[in-house]
Amino acid sequence: MSHTIELCEVSKYYSEKDTVSMGISRVNLKLDMGEFVVITGESGSGKSTLLNVISGLDTYEEGEMFVCGEDTAAFGTEDYEAYRKTYIGNIFQDFNLINSYTVYQNIELVMLISGKKKGECKKRVDDLIELVGLSQYRNTKASKLSGGQKQRVAIARALAKNAPIIVADEPTGNLDSESADAVMETLARVSKDKLVIIVTHNYEQVERYASRKLTMYDGKIIEDKKINTADGAEPTNADRLYDELEAEAFSMNTDEEDATAQKDRKVGRISRKIRKYKCGMRKSSEFLLGVRNTFNLPAKFILLFIVYLFVSTAVLGQYATTKDSMYEKDALGSNPYFVNTSSNRIVIKKADGSTFTDHDYDIVSSIPNVREIIKNDLAIDKGVNVSVGDSIAECSAASFDQVDESKITCGHMPQSDYEIVLRIDSASDNFINFANNGDDYIGKDVELLDISQEQKYTFKNNITVAGIIIDDGNDSNSDYSMYGYSTVYLSDKLSEELLAEMMAEISETRLNFESVHMSNNYQRVVFPSVNVPEGMVYLMEDQVYYYKDEDAEGKDLGLKISNMYFESEGNYKVDQIITSDNCKQLLGISAGDLDSYYNCVFISPMDFSKLFDKGFYQISAFMINEQEFDATQQALTGKGFIVMPLKDSLTDSTGNLRGLLNLLTYARLALEFVILFVIAYAVIRLIMRSRNPYYSTLRILGATKGNTSNILRVELVLIMLIAYGVDLLFAVLIHKGVLQELTGYGMKEITKILYYLTPLDYSILGVLLLLMSMLIANRYSRHIFSKSAMKTFREGA
Ligand code: ADP
Ligand code: MG
Repeated sequence: MSHTIELCEVSKYYSEKDTVSMGISRVNLKLDMGEFVVITGESGSGKSTLLNVISGLDTYEEGEMFVCGEDTAAFGTEDYEAYRKTYIGNIFQDFNLINSYTVYQNIELVMLISGKKKGECKKRVDDLIELVGLSQYRNTKASKLSGGQKQRVAIARALAKNAPIIVADEPTGNLDSESADAVMETLARVSKDKLVIIVTHNYEQVERYASRKLTMYDGKIIEDKKINTADGAEPTNADRLYDELEAEAFSMNTDEEDATAQKDRKVGRISRKIRKYKCGMRKSSEFLLGVRNTFNLPAKFILLFIVYLFVSTAVLGQYATTKDSMYEKDALGSNPYFVNTSSNRIVIKKADGSTFTDHDYDIVSSIPNVREIIKNDLAIDKGVNVSVGDSIAECSAASFDQVDESKITCGHMPQSDYEIVLRIDSASDNFINFANNGDDYIGKDVELLDISQEQKYTFKNNITVAGIIIDDGNDSNSDYSMYGYSTVYLSDKLSEELLAEMMAEISETRLNFESVHMSNNYQRVVFPSVNVPEGMVYLMEDQVYYYKDEDAEGKDLGLKISNMYFESEGNYKVDQIITSDNCKQLLGISAGDLDSYYNCVFISPMDFSKLFDKGFYQISAFMINEQEFDATQQALTGKGFIVMPLKDSLTDSTGNLRGLLNLLTYARLALEFVILFVIAYAVIRLIMRSRNPYYSTLRILGATKGNTSNILRVELVLIMLIAYGVDLLFAVLIHKGVLQELTGYGMKEITKILYYLTPLDYSILGVLLLLMSMLIANRYSRHIFSKSAMKTFREGA
């Protein structure tokens, strides 16, 4: 018959950096059920090492160890786990209880680890608590107990899973002699029929109970003495209680063990294959412990919660900002027509192609989602330079309606169509000039130039400055004003004239010189001049050559205008030929400036209006909420308008590029998440360091790698969920505007950024964070499992 434990020439070394010290050397030993073995010897003689090797807590380097006849040489981590769980009940000098658990929970723990349901444990745990005499401390936390009490809990715990072997390393080492006696008495009383191995340096204390005494010296067993115990004492109440417990424990196992195994066990033999051991910890128990651990250490919980709150908020924030900036197409690429590509912008035309009337504006303004209307649609894209005195302001054009009178810093609201108001942006070039000498500009003449400052726009009257708004940047700007751009506010009339000028700039012009056709689509050809009589045209000298007989004066000239919005035409008679000699006199243009009018024609302002001023046939509006575009479009379409969101007009020309840019944006986001993950892992590893003893205790008690990781996972995932839940709560409160009301802050930015997030986004982020905390838990458990249980435990302690 094989022995319960058999060691042949077993040696164990401890190697650390460059020193190797010997734990035990060439130990031979056979142990059987029913023995009460006491190992003594001076400090450092190898007692603990021997015990740890026997109980599978540490590995050995040389020799062979058999457990019930089975060679442990081929044991892997999992085999050792199964072995510890099935066979070994541990009692430690420093108790190794889980301080944050109650007495009940500490004992229950091992039963859960060995596969019992929570409900199945109750009776046995309570009986065991009674057996070791701690009934009144059932719900006391382990940290509140005295040393003797703790050790009695440890004994109850070692018995709880009904393991055949009980090992105890100096169980009374930290106790006064009185409690030590009580503990030893308890241990001896409750562990009859088992194999008990106790390490002590105080042999007298256990002499009464010992059936065998081993003495160690320098890593070797120097004495092995069997003792006949004459223990003829009458069975006590406790003994009877214990016998009942044993019987019950065996019957409890019937559904999990086959009949032979049960018989083997009753006769004190354990021949079952360890590796086939099946009754592992239940998932529900892992979950239970995970939840328990999450909350039973408040300081740890708060720390982890803060870290996870940081992570989930950062992830949510990054995601939301990225999504927000994807909507803000400004950031992405350029397009040939639209400079202001705010995603709130919609372009509106009349379905019948006619120009907008006041009635039309009223209809558009009455749509709740429309915030403001920009009548000169082109002016917000083209931009216009306003030159006044010695300063120039780069502006977007807007209408008088948008002036906030209370913001006017110098001057007043305009009183005529040919007065303007300027808003000077704090980020613009001449801000200091305007801010310091604002009053000097009031009433001054103004010239409007195109954005490249090559072309002066001509108007029917002189324009002057009525008021200036010095915008220090504290107020958020409207949608139509772009960063660094100032704003020029124009009357509708001026706006229309400006639009006509701009149209002349962007239109293709076809000239018909008595059936000789010339077209020019990349340069402005037609200019208005008050000096030209109606129906007449002044022609630049170089254009004359297109007439057949070169004598152009008095001949016909036709103009055909086309652009993306309209076509128009007019017929004129050539009145004058402009040369460098007569240009000053005829048009007021100096000979030096004539270069920029090469190939051009001049007509009267009236004719110019007929050609180019078609009124506002297209306007832009800004929505309050771009997500309600569909409803807005529907409302307007029903009233005879054609509505197009600006962003749709962009995807065509830059579609491919946009795809790439989106990809890059997502890649950046992913990178940010990875960085967050790494930081979070580092911090969590630091915080969880204090939990190492807990997890190694679990393993010492027989929890497998899988169990421990699952418990850890539940713990970390739960905290992440709580943190994310808090984030979600805030998001909902912000969505609903509750937080804004409570705190009195507008939170405009946050509200805007969160706006684009849909429930789907929140779910995706939730899953992402879940994966992230899973990964952290996995990494961390790999980290603790890279070392043996004892090593982790030693390091943590
Ligand atoms: P005892 O329990 O009898 O006091 P140990 O088994 O703890 O003895 O130690 C036996 C020998 O192994 C001693 O020389 C000790 O220095 C060495 N030893 C024990 N544990 C370690 C360890 N973790 N690292 C290095 N050496 C160790
Ligand atoms: Mg020791």
